[in-house]
Amino acid sequence: MRHAETVTFGGSGLDRAAQLRGDIAATAADVAARCIVIWRGKVLTDGDGGPLLRVPLDHPVMADAGEVRLFLGLDDAGPVFAVSLDRWDPDLPEADQMGSFLDPTLQQHPATGDAVFAELRAIMTGLTPRDAELAATARAVIAWHQSHRFCSACGAQSEAADAGWRRSCPGCGTSHFPRTDPVVIMLITSGDDVLVGRSPGWPEGMYSLLAGFVEPGETIEAAVRREVFEEAGVRVGSVSYLASQPWAFPSSLMIGCRGEATSTTITLDPVELEDAIWVSRDDMAKAAQGQHPTIKPARKGAIAHFLLENWLADTLD
Ligand SMILES: [Zn+2]
Repeated sequence: MRHAETVTFGGSGLDRAAQLRGDIAATAADVAARCIVIWRGKVLTDGDGGPLLRVPLDHPVMADAGEVRLFLGLDDAGPVFAVSLDRWDPDLPEADQMGSFLDPTLQQHPATGDAVFAELRAIMTGLTPRDAELAATARAVIAWHQSHRFCSACGAQSEAADAGWRRSCPGCGTSHFPRTDPVVIMLITSGDDVLVGRSPGWPEGMYSLLAGFVEPGETIEAAVRREVFEEAGVRVGSVSYLASQPWAFPSSLMIGCRGEATSTTITLDPVELEDAIWVSRDDMAKAAQGQHPTIKPARKGAIAHFLLENWLADTLD
């Protein structure tokens, strides 16, 4: 797919300079080095949804940073790092709203003036490709550190290494690396109809493409066919790859595929889905424009929205 990398989080060609990770001191001492700041998975932006704030590595906000200083790569202006303010624990009246899919709350840290912490999914479509890549990478790797503090081989507490790209166990010597979980998401068509479904709890009327985790020992194509049959009872023939999207919520890689249905009768798995339907191209075009009486489109910024948009525009090639 020619436009594949224009998807949100589609990458910016960041030079990750992996060769510098083993001995990062000199890079961190560069006066041009800057750091982006994460807190509880939210990103510090220069205003409401604006660009990521980049602070010097000796900025006062660093007093609240956790153990990991992650080296993200070499930007045009110099080295870029990321920290998470693990030591900042303010008392917040909006705490019950935080952590939701589109958490609308914004928080300010006393050391960074007007800058605000924003939920990445709420601002993702407004970021530059570079900021999106930096934020997604930082969010995913930092979340991995926070949930992998102990060695899975021996149970000892592990330590961050290689500028945040590895954890090392002092007990048994095992190295652990940040994980990415492959998820297939598929545009399944039958003639001019597309298969979409909705999960319980989604906004009323919203339908999206079916998706599911790839299992060990399985190809991408097999995962597409299995997931569609499990969730909707529809058989799929040929499968082809379209585009991918890193989805750092917390650690998925969405693999967008298209598949041709060889059967059309829907048998729903009620545990996975609340509903699944075939939607014609005309109806999906109306939904995309907000003019369909019952169907609402997939969320903007998600690869499902991107694939459906390109299907409607006939630009999947
Ligand atoms: Zn160990």
